[in-house]
Amino acid sequence: MEIPFIDLKAQYHALKPSIDARIQRVLDHGQYIMGPEVAELEGKLAGYTGARHCITVASGTEALLIALMALGIKPGDEVITTPFTFVATAEVIVLLGAVPVFVDIEPDTCNIDTSLIEAAITPKTKAIMPVSLYGQPADMDEINAIAASHGLSVIEDAAQSFGAEYKGRKSCNLSTLACTSFFPSKPLGCYGDGGAIFTSDDDMAKAMREIRVHGQQKRYVHTRIGVGGRMDTLQCAVVLAKLERFGWEIEQRRKVGARYNDLLAGRLPVVAQRPDRTSVFAQYTVFVDNREQVQEKLKAAGVPTAVHYPIPLHRQRAYEPVSRFVGVPRHCERLADRVMSLPMHPDLSFSDQQAIRRILSA
Ligand SMILES: *Cc1c(COP(=O)(O)O)cnc(C)c1O
Repeated sequence: MEIPFIDLKAQYHALKPSIDARIQRVLDHGQYIMGPEVAELEGKLAGYTGARHCITVASGTEALLIALMALGIKPGDEVITTPFTFVATAEVIVLLGAVPVFVDIEPDTCNIDTSLIEAAITPKTKAIMPVSLYGQPADMDEINAIAASHGLSVIEDAAQSFGAEYKGRKSCNLSTLACTSFFPSKPLGCYGDGGAIFTSDDDMAKAMREIRVHGQQKRYVHTRIGVGGRMDTLQCAVVLAKLERFGWEIEQRRKVGARYNDLLAGRLPVVAQRPDRTSVFAQYTVFVDNREQVQEKLKAAGVPTAVHYPIPLHRQRAYEPVSRFVGVPRHCERLADRVMSLPMHPDLSFSDQQAIRRILSA
């Protein structure tokens, strides 16, 4: 038996006619940069989330960087975020000379613990950057309220949560700015690098469109410092084709997640899901004490696993001298040793999940 961790082949097989046709159309018109698919995708994604603007960019990391640049984050500023995330979340803060200020996470969802944010705010704080980890939105209403009372901006790192809902609203439309990623293994992936920024603020959208193309207001007139941050037309075409069954995929992801919950109930603690929001299960993550042994056992039986993430960012060598942790890193450090993600994709069958359960309890 060999169960894929994610199954991009099954997805391509299901969507082959649309993906091939979409790619062929780009090859025929030849507008590889800022071709018509770019605006088409931006319109569709904005409509999907409910945000007024969508700006596609070269990657999820570039999305976060451009968002922070548009907010005017500068050297010495502080951005409050979680240490329990992919490195890009903090990387972009440091790249701008600002300081990532970490607080601990909730022990059950692994998202930022909102009750710890206020104590980390200083006169230098400019923004709060929660991550909707594993596909489940953070406590966005509480975070927005704290930000509003201190005049701060909120950027949702929604790289893992595109398609998730929070109190009936879509992830990426829950704060001033939101960033997602189309890295191939994300819930909505392209066939290379890609990402998008969402906002309903017209001025911010205009700034980010300019920053995306070297800060130019019009050709060769540069009114801001920018980046080369566009998303390729071909990658936009792939995402457009994938949107055709995205609704079904989100439903499937929820079903597969619910089936894991049932199968593992009483056997293994799993990442908690809050009742007022949905997860798109970018990862289905459980907590185990003897992780290496469990991973070995699963691997021997043909079941791949992964760890998201083994070292919290305040413990990464490059980040220790340029970041700060406020409070006690109790849960993030303990959970970094215990989290383990299981195979998760829309085409994962119930019988494969039953087999995984059997191996786990053997
Ligand atoms: C994947 C990811 C990113 C970066 O996205 P890329 O498209 O790979 O640059 C940022 N933040 C989080 C939480 C991610 O999972």
